[in-house]
Amino acid sequence: MQRFSNAASGDIVLAIARRIVENRGYLSDIDGLIGDGDHGVNMAKGFSLATERLRGGAQSLAASLATVGEVLMTEIGGSMGPLYGVMFAGFADALDGVEEIDAAAFERMLRNGLDEVQSIGDAKIGDKTLVDAFAPALQTFAAETANGASFAAALDALIAAAETGRDSTIDLVAKIGRASRLGERSRGVLDPGAASCAIILRAFAEGAQAKLAPANARNPSEAQP
Ligand code: ADP
Ligand code: MG
Repeated sequence: MQRFSNAASGDIVLAIARRIVENRGYLSDIDGLIGDGDHGVNMAKGFSLATERLRGGAQSLAASLATVGEVLMTEIGGSMGPLYGVMFAGFADALDGVEEIDAAAFERMLRNGLDEVQSIGDAKIGDKTLVDAFAPALQTFAAETANGASFAAALDALIAAAETGRDSTIDLVAKIGRASRLGERSRGVLDPGAASCAIILRAFAEGAQAKLAPANARNPSEAQP
């Protein structure tokens, strides 16, 4: 069965943070169309601060996710601080005490993160939020593994579903958050939170796939970063 080490995988979180910082301008541009244009700035600030805290220490995946959650929750404004804060804290909680992360543990982690977001934000599929990228990604991952797909293959399906879900927000009218004030005028553009969520899920999935790669599985001590 495919699995990867929690203790040796904190660098996945640094890779997620790098992708968010790289997409700062893109995410703020999208938010400028139906929001206040701060989404990329908020996200990049949070993930840069988290990176500073993580650098130097080779922490576990769970500990690194917990640090991101804490930084986002306490230091970042907008809707995204608390929402992504509880998501990352939810990921971390689900991995607490898990030594080897297999597809089932990964699914529990994703589910806990999404549950936390929905418990504070109340967004459902179709409301034009990050849930429209996240929920189908989780559903697809779960369905693929239930059908016997390998962990790595299910991660490919997760990435594709997150991006299809992100794109589905173009045709939606925002029902929740700042963009909902625009009503019908929110139709026709991507939701910024769905866009950042798809970036996070792709980076997370690709990071996990790199840990699952055959060379690493055969001889973890010789694995290249
Ligand atoms: P703000 O709206 O305060 O400017 P951001 O621009 O950082 O915050 O984030 C906007 C994104 O937040 C939206 O694109 C949407 O995806 C997400 N969002 C807002 N409210 C919710 C909610 N209740 N549940 C889930 N996601 C939400
Ligand atoms: Mg905004």
